[in-house]
Amino acid sequence: SARGAADTGPTVIALANQKGGVAKTTSVASIGAALAELGQRVLLVDLDPQACLTFSLGVDPDTVERSVHDVLTGSAELDDVVVTCEEGVDLVPSAIDLAGAEAMLLPRPGREYVLRSALEGADTAYDVVLLDCSPSLGVLTLNALTAADALIIPMPCEMLSHRGVGQLLDTVADVQKILNRDLEVWGILPTLFDGRSNHAREVLADVGERYDLPVLEPPIPKTVRFAEAPAVGRSILATARTSKGAQAYRDVATGLLARL
Ligand code: ADP
Ligand code: MG
Repeated sequence: SARGAADTGPTVIALANQKGGVAKTTSVASIGAALAELGQRVLLVDLDPQACLTFSLGVDPDTVERSVHDVLTGSAELDDVVVTCEEGVDLVPSAIDLAGAEAMLLPRPGREYVLRSALEGADTAYDVVLLDCSPSLGVLTLNALTAADALIIPMPCEMLSHRGVGQLLDTVADVQKILNRDLEVWGILPTLFDGRSNHAREVLADVGERYDLPVLEPPIPKTVRFAEAPAVGRSILATARTSKGAQAYRDVATGLLARL
């Protein structure tokens, strides 16, 4: 774990970017599946009220009995909410009632620490926990950044995708000052990469220097195969095993494994 040798708990990694459509959810599902293939015990947490991760792993957010909402409001323990997915990963599902959790948490003291405490109190041993954030910098995302050892920022290789990253990094700096000194930014994960586009290659070459951040490798190629996966409740690692996209996520996961 990034928290040091004495800590035997999982490495907790948040994937956050307050912009929607940057492949946060796709990356959580795919990196999670890839780490499971590598023999890691993986827990995924869906922190988005839209529940796309939950749906894409074959769990119906409309009929799920207990969700991350119950964990955050204190009416369930994390272990009671976990479901095991075909993907070989465990999932803390989201459900539509999570939208109300922000307002519920607001007046509570220590509201940013609720997820962190829940993860620390979990009985099941995991090697890695991946947090799929909603497209906002609200209380749910602050909970993720407070619980995390590391942050990965998925970002498409297009100029407009940069907007908002400065604001995210300001929030990270605040979190590091006040809520979670140990939070490390592991870097930008370039997504939706079109290698034939000069523009995309220029953005990829420039983005690390612009934000003074590492850029994880390899970039994830843009491919239609990703569109098919969520509908059948499996990640691209199962629906298109040998595709370039699946292989890119396996390579990213192998790079992460060295740091767990
Ligand atoms: P976010 O969680 O940041 O909102 P998603 O993971 O839901 O983003 O991805 C947004 C859309 O882009 C989805 O329709 C997804 O299937 C698609 N997508 C993600 N990664 C790729 C890719 N590498 N190539 C093509 N489409 C992709
Ligand atoms: Mg998402």
